[in-house]
Amino acid sequence: MNCKKMDIKPFEKRVWLSSPTMHGDELKYITEAYDTNWMSTIGENINKVESIAAEKANVKYAVALSCCTAALHLCVKSAGERLYGKPSIGHGAVEGKRVFCSDLTFNATLNPVMYEGGTPVLIDSERDSWNMDPVALEKAFEMYPDVKLVVYAELYGFPGNVRQIKEICEKHGALLIEDAAEAMGATWEGKQCGSFGDYSAISYNGNKIITGSSGGCLLTNDIEVVNKARKWSTQAREDAVWYQHEEIGYNYRMSNVIAGVVRGQYVYLEEHIEQKKAIYERYKEGLKELPIKMNPFDAEKSKPNYWLSAMIIDEGYMCKQVRNDSVAWYTPENGKSCPTEILEAISSINAEGRPIWKPMHMQPMHKMHEFVTRADSGRANTNTYIEGGCADIGMDIFDRGLCLPSDNKMTEEQQSRIIDVIKACFE
Ligand SMILES: *Cc1c(COP(=O)(O)O)cnc(C)c1O
Repeated sequence: MNCKKMDIKPFEKRVWLSSPTMHGDELKYITEAYDTNWMSTIGENINKVESIAAEKANVKYAVALSCCTAALHLCVKSAGERLYGKPSIGHGAVEGKRVFCSDLTFNATLNPVMYEGGTPVLIDSERDSWNMDPVALEKAFEMYPDVKLVVYAELYGFPGNVRQIKEICEKHGALLIEDAAEAMGATWEGKQCGSFGDYSAISYNGNKIITGSSGGCLLTNDIEVVNKARKWSTQAREDAVWYQHEEIGYNYRMSNVIAGVVRGQYVYLEEHIEQKKAIYERYKEGLKELPIKMNPFDAEKSKPNYWLSAMIIDEGYMCKQVRNDSVAWYTPENGKSCPTEILEAISSINAEGRPIWKPMHMQPMHKMHEFVTRADSGRANTNTYIEGGCADIGMDIFDRGLCLPSDNKMTEEQQSRIIDVIKACFE
């Protein structure tokens, strides 16, 4: 670790990026499941999670599933069937079809498209929110007017203009899948993330804003989608006295024990958001003298859930940093730094930061998939200069950005120490 003048004491107990925060109510509902013997994928906790999730997100229905990835998979299957008809025995719902997808996201956003045989076309991010760029999406529809499905993810709980994305989809007769895994409780123009998509998904993974240790929900206003998701998620049994099967099924239902944890957590969603917001604001204040910016959002229209605080280093203040597919190198320089140096410094005091999601268009498994920026095909012209810098915005954010320790149990004193460490990197 090359960070200059670093003599800051490490934490005895690790400060996590974002770890589960339990409150006690969870145990009550788990115990209830145990005592009533509903140790199953049926039970009162599951029913309650479905009604609470739908109510919180302001949609008609929620289907409780084993994880958000499963929810996204069933979203893709539903959308594929509606758009292209039912595939034989139900596999390959978007086989051979292009699907526009967020580029700067976790790969769980894209995997379900791959499960169903689709071909992702990756859409670059906008500077203003780091989410999918509506201008690039329009560009993509110009290039591929026959595309009928868009998968959009909200990054780190900071919504972009998802209303505009939905309008663009409608204009082109496309359906929208909203991956709100990171954005539960966040809003755009007062409307909940997870309520913009024709189909949406939220996550209760261990590091999300609230957690069941795992789990997720599919959200929709369409009862037919609900019925299909229920059937598919329980091995696709037909209505018959024996086990009758006409199509592929999955074992995707949420456990009633997990649902007990989720049920207990929902009460604390707003509290968690407040804590995460305070963390973001303390970073913003503490780092204001440095040549960095916090992850951006439209202060008028966007109400983030502040799941992860992230920062980006101003262009002129990056020391030299090179990354290949697994390793990073950098040359320390006075007055400058880079994500690699800052992440090493944070880790050296026993805290956990994380690089920005590596954009999907830079991943080996997606190298053959088209990538569209607001300027053009990002594959042909990765370095086309456009106003505001490099045309490939996702790569630029990955290069200069990083996620900061954002655990809601982190004390102010601990956070001050992390801020001091980041400052030391720029000395
Ligand atoms: C966490 C996450 C998922 C997957 O959630 P699981 O519940 O772990 O399956 C999907 N998309 C995004 C953007 C995520 O951050």
